[in-house]
Amino acid sequence: MRRKRQHLGFAAVGICYTAPHVFCEMKISVPKETHPGETRAPLTPDSAAKLVKLGAQVEVEAGLGVAAGFLDEAYTRAGATITNDRKNLLSTGDLVLRLRKPPAGEIALLKPNSIHASLLDPFNEKELVQKLAERGVSAISMEFIPRTTRAQKMDVLSSQANLGGYEAVILAARYANKIFPMMTTAAGTILPSKVLIIGVGVAGLQAIATAKRLGAKVTAYDTRPVVEEQVKSLGAQFLKIDLGETGQTKDGYAKALTEEQLQKQREAMKKNCGDSDIVITAAQVFGRRAPILVTAEMLDAMKPGSVVVDLAVETGGNVEGVVYDQVTGRKGVQIVGIANLPGRAPLHASQVYSNNLVNLVEEFWDKQNKTFVLKLDDDIIKGCLVTHGGKIVNEKLAAKKN
Ligand code: NAD
Repeated sequence: MRRKRQHLGFAAVGICYTAPHVFCEMKISVPKETHPGETRAPLTPDSAAKLVKLGAQVEVEAGLGVAAGFLDEAYTRAGATITNDRKNLLSTGDLVLRLRKPPAGEIALLKPNSIHASLLDPFNEKELVQKLAERGVSAISMEFIPRTTRAQKMDVLSSQANLGGYEAVILAARYANKIFPMMTTAAGTILPSKVLIIGVGVAGLQAIATAKRLGAKVTAYDTRPVVEEQVKSLGAQFLKIDLGETGQTKDGYAKALTEEQLQKQREAMKKNCGDSDIVITAAQVFGRRAPILVTAEMLDAMKPGSVVVDLAVETGGNVEGVVYDQVTGRKGVQIVGIANLPGRAPLHASQVYSNNLVNLVEEFWDKQNKTFVLKLDDDIIKGCLVTHGGKIVNEKLAAKKN
């Protein structure tokens, strides 16, 4: 369907036009995730319906949501079209929505001047980002959505980490040789499990809440002093360790500790690890490899039958010797390095990720012209846009190089 429209004053990226001032409906293309074992979908049928209601033409790849419980018919009912032609889907999208970074081989298929929104892992994927720039794609990195109140509804790191924290506790309960709650029975009293949570960002807070709901006795530690109050408000104990100056960045992230501080932290936590039945690690430093916080020596201080779940395994791991996507044992202690924990709850993970994407689209949707507008001077777009106009444009990426 083609309509006559006024020309826009913004960067007219991703707008499908056949002649000046003649625009056709914006096409949103959603390919199926190809990462091995990925169960999540970037768009649910409910979200597809919202995009259709905005006036977009939505096309999704056949089988897009099947692993998360959404059949193709549901997308069709929502007003989307289904295609088996992935190449055509990618090369005709004005706006391409995905969950994970695009495979390098698919970048040449994207339409120049199109917009691409997904997780990109841009600090580690410099070549991929360069390719997107060279292709003339305006790439939005969803992990760079600013952690501000206005952008909270688009914050995929939070929506996924929240479910990851929940799943970490469920996994710990599954691998533990004991139960979490206290029980007083005729056959004797069962004491509650002791859970130690290291790193209390979004995932760690949900892990505390979930372990508390299951009845465990929870202690938690984070280097950011502001976390103490949050931990206590969830009914857990805060472990105090004096590491000197730690603080946080202006975006609320932890600052990297010195090797001396890390060593002091490990020494202070060794006894707590030994006393705990479950240790869940979720400590990250944005844009860096995760710090090793639980050493082999600390694992050896734990009781046989204890469980350690490493939520930071995808950025290198907080636990010495953790194996990516595996459960391993060390002297009777189980070390759970299972990756993609949000993907273990694919329906809800897809629901919230997809809501984040639709919230982004709605925020920058021009209702009159029915198109997504990249407002280059907007704080959210400035924060998350990594390539535009053939160049890498992101401040955080530029700063990381220095
Ligand atoms: P993250 O995944 O980057 O890190 C997880 C946690 O690890 C953090 O709490 C960090 O302080 C902690 N950590 C780092 N090094 C550690 C160490 N050596 N020992 C123990 N803990 C360590 O964090 P996140 O979950 O993405 O959250 C980052 C920040 O952003 C938090 O302050 C969070 O409250 C804030 N946030 C703000 C918004 C918003 O305002 N919209 C939304 C989400 C999160």
